[in-house]
Amino acid sequence: MWKDIFAPWRAAFEEAWEAFRTGSVPIGAALCDESGAILLCDRNRSNEADTVNRRISHAEANLLRRLDTSVGDLHSLTLYTTMEPCPMCMGTAVMAGIRHLRSAARDPYCGMVHLAETEPYYAEKRLDFTFELGEVELVQLTVQSYRELRYVDSGASPKVLDKFEAYMPEAVSAARELYAAKELDRLAEAGTAAGEVFDRILAMFG
Ligand SMILES: [Zn+2]
Repeated sequence: MWKDIFAPWRAAFEEAWEAFRTGSVPIGAALCDESGAILLCDRNRSNEADTVNRRISHAEANLLRRLDTSVGDLHSLTLYTTMEPCPMCMGTAVMAGIRHLRSAARDPYCGMVHLAETEPYYAEKRLDFTFELGEVELVQLTVQSYRELRYVDSGASPKVLDKFEAYMPEAVSAARELYAAKELDRLAEAGTAAGEVFDRILAMFG
């Protein structure tokens, strides 16, 4: 349930839902200090009008480009992202001095956290990375699969959706059911809050 999830996840999901509402890839991120205070939030802005390079307007990269590096000990900060970082965001986080990373969901298409173990440059940084999984992963992959269904409907390749389906078929199945009724579009147009959307999706899984 929304009320039970950790505050940084709520902040990141609110950003992901805002990204969905604007037609961007529904991924959000939040950055916290050691006390858990949220310093910054951002989202994928690939479909926002003032975005110049839509291909690389990812949540984590957008957030980290706004981080004032004079805030203090960067290594003590924790970056929460609703989806496993891609190659660019993984690199951006490490280069920005982030050492604590949390992801709600695995990205079977372009998630790159395995680099933290297999690539010497990353391994030397001794990243603290964990997946949250569970409810937050289920909701994230459902919303993102819905967006992919819309994308495929417009003629795009199903390669991302296929990866999601192989990894978590129940999320893609829920997304198909929602997409058939255009339910998330309706909730977005109605201005429904992220928490309500989260709990509605979760309820589909009993
Ligand atoms: Zn990325």
